[in-house]
Amino acid sequence: MADSVLPRPLRRRRLALLVAALAAVTALACWGAYRWAEAEARAALTLDGDQRLGLYASSIRSAVGRYDYLPFLLARDHEVLDLLDAPSDQRRDAVNRRLEMANTAAGSAALYVVDRSGLALASSNWADPAQSFVGHTYDFRPYFRQAVETGSGRYFGIGVTTGLPGYFLSHAVRQGEALTGVAVVKIDLETVQRDWAAGGERVLVTDENGIVFLSNHAEWKYRALRPLPDAVTDSLAQTRQYDRSDLPPLGLRDGPLMENGARLVSLPVSVPGTSDPGATRRAFLMQELALPEFGWTIRFLSDLEPVKAQAAGAATLTAMGILLLAAAAALGWQRRQTLRLQREARVTLERRVEERTAELVTANRILRDAQEELVQAGKLAALGQMSAALAHEINQPLAAIRTFVASTRLLAERGETAMVRDNLAMIGDLAERMALLSGHLKEFARKGPARVEAVPVARAMDRALALLTSRLREEEVQVDRSIPPDARVRGDAVRLEQVFVNLLRNAADAMDGSDERRLTLTAVRTAEGWEIRIRDTGTGIAEAHQFQLFDPFFTTKEVGQGLGLGLSLSYGIVRDFGGTLRAENNPEGGACFVVQLPEAQ
Ligand code: ADP
Repeated sequence: MADSVLPRPLRRRRLALLVAALAAVTALACWGAYRWAEAEARAALTLDGDQRLGLYASSIRSAVGRYDYLPFLLARDHEVLDLLDAPSDQRRDAVNRRLEMANTAAGSAALYVVDRSGLALASSNWADPAQSFVGHTYDFRPYFRQAVETGSGRYFGIGVTTGLPGYFLSHAVRQGEALTGVAVVKIDLETVQRDWAAGGERVLVTDENGIVFLSNHAEWKYRALRPLPDAVTDSLAQTRQYDRSDLPPLGLRDGPLMENGARLVSLPVSVPGTSDPGATRRAFLMQELALPEFGWTIRFLSDLEPVKAQAAGAATLTAMGILLLAAAAALGWQRRQTLRLQREARVTLERRVEERTAELVTANRILRDAQEELVQAGKLAALGQMSAALAHEINQPLAAIRTFVASTRLLAERGETAMVRDNLAMIGDLAERMALLSGHLKEFARKGPARVEAVPVARAMDRALALLTSRLREEEVQVDRSIPPDARVRGDAVRLEQVFVNLLRNAADAMDGSDERRLTLTAVRTAEGWEIRIRDTGTGIAEAHQFQLFDPFFTTKEVGQGLGLGLSLSYGIVRDFGGTLRAENNPEGGACFVVQLPEAQ
């Protein structure tokens, strides 16, 4: 409201402040929305990761657990016990076949029996010379040593004979208290891993040294999560656990630890099309689950890109929401402002219209008064000019009356009553005529405002002619009239009469020096009403005067003869009644004034 009152620089500063505040609020809200959405998405990711970890753990446990009993059973088998007790080709052969059968039935990778020194005596793969364990010594393998020392062992490693990875479960074989050998089952974990690969997720299993030995991403396998200490490298070379000396680090970098035990990490990823596979690092959320019975840890990596995208989406939505609200508020404010301005403008306009209307009303009244005055002046001027003719008009009957009175007196003295009656009737007629004339004059000179009524054209013309009778008669003007009795126009009788008097008098003036003096008066019905023509055989209108005729005080007459007001007043009167007045020249000479007036209902 008070805005428009503020000076411009102040208003501008206020706007800048408002924009800055809006930007700050938007930035803050976006940041908040980003953090909130990120935390939410990460929490959902963690929950999902926990479930996946559980599934992977149970798939490993069930893959191993299925064969747990096998070494135990073998360690109690009579044929195995016999073979270890006293080895012979026959016994070895029998145990070989037995192991082969059991291995096929159980679906394990290999079953074999080693003696006290670690030498394999029988094996399920005896028949394949390239793969057979028989005759090889495995005393360096941890699962052998564990079984010798504690009765049983378990170990993951790459087969030194086959080159295939496997999980080894071992159990000591005893004769009474004395150790005679060790029974071993090798389990193929690659099949478990093959099932994982189908999921498209990122999962890896590390041993106690942090070496990845299972993963559905081949490029991560047999690599150390973090660089290995020398002692570990040495011991691995001894046990030939991974049957290789080179276990390059994966390049995992630890980020901050999250609330629920998950950790942000980054890993180099290979981008298709680039030569350096470690060129790009990618952030992951890493979750871990320990498998204590194996000494392993399963790690599940979740891609953080969708989390970022979700957070960015939330921030964008928030920004859009705030900006939309701000735009709506600005629009609303502008609308209110516009409405206020419009209201103010309307009030001002209304006041101005009222003022102008009042001024117009006043001006109109003054004009009307002035016109009334002019009309009156015109009438008086016309009367003045007609006074000689009028005196003549009145003198004639007066003289006649005087003569009649004298003769009547004589007749009365003589007692000729009939003659007296005749004379008196004639005197009455003459007096009547004079009364009529003076009535017309009185009416004509009357000062009064115009009325709108139905005026018979013929009567108005009659009265106008009556005022000019003596002049027309004296100047021997022939009058031809053809005005239908039903010709009635809208106007004021006296005013219309005045117009006719003006036009007739002008015509008589113009015909002053003409040989032929004829007035033709007609009225014709047209689409607009009635067209009344007053035609003379006078001088006609000079071309130079054509456009000045109706100007006030334009006259070609000598001083004292004309005021130059007649046509201008007549024009105004006719126009006031909604009509027109124009002048033209007749083809055969003389002028014609045409009054056009609307027909009275
Ligand atoms: P006034 O008669 O006092 O001169 P008017 O306004 O009546 O004033 O006429 C203006 C002029 O128009 C006249 O002086 C005359 O020159 C011209 N006029 C008017 N009527 C006629 C006519 N019938 N024929 C020729 N001229 C005319």
